[in-house]
Amino acid sequence: MGSAAVAAGIKGLGDVAPHVESAAIEISKRFDVTNIGGRASKGHINGSDHYTGHAIDVMVYSDKAKGEAVAQYAIANATRLGIKYVIWYRRIWEKGKWTAYFGTSPHTDHVHLSFNNQPGTGTAPVDNATGGSVSDLTTLDGCLGVVYKFFGD
Ligand SMILES: [Zn+2]
Repeated sequence: MGSAAVAAGIKGLGDVAPHVESAAIEISKRFDVTNIGGRASKGHINGSDHYTGHAIDVMVYSDKAKGEAVAQYAIANATRLGIKYVIWYRRIWEKGKWTAYFGTSPHTDHVHLSFNNQPGTGTAPVDNATGGSVSDLTTLDGCLGVVYKFFGD
């Protein structure tokens, strides 16, 4: 793990890509989260972005409101941070929209962020940590069994 992440008090990040580390530090400070899983050699599904250091698990435990805020912030800043997709609360956001997620983990205690290999644009932060996009998706819970997608969670 890079010294910047250690200095920021983040636990568990491991040897992630530089732009992934930068995003983890930004999210850690903004949302007061210190447990952020990153690079791993096992424990995730085949093809997981955790194995290449291009994914983080932002642990929010039972704080659903914080998880929603993190997810919304990640989406609002996806281009800047180089985020490929977001998994939160049985939903996956990719290419600009949410769909139901049916991986083995429901992702109700952490927000998974996968990153592109290339860094993001580095443009100014967008603050969309409050407001509706995630909460609006509760209707997706009624779609269980319709669509099956398996990503590197
Ligand atoms: Zn993950």
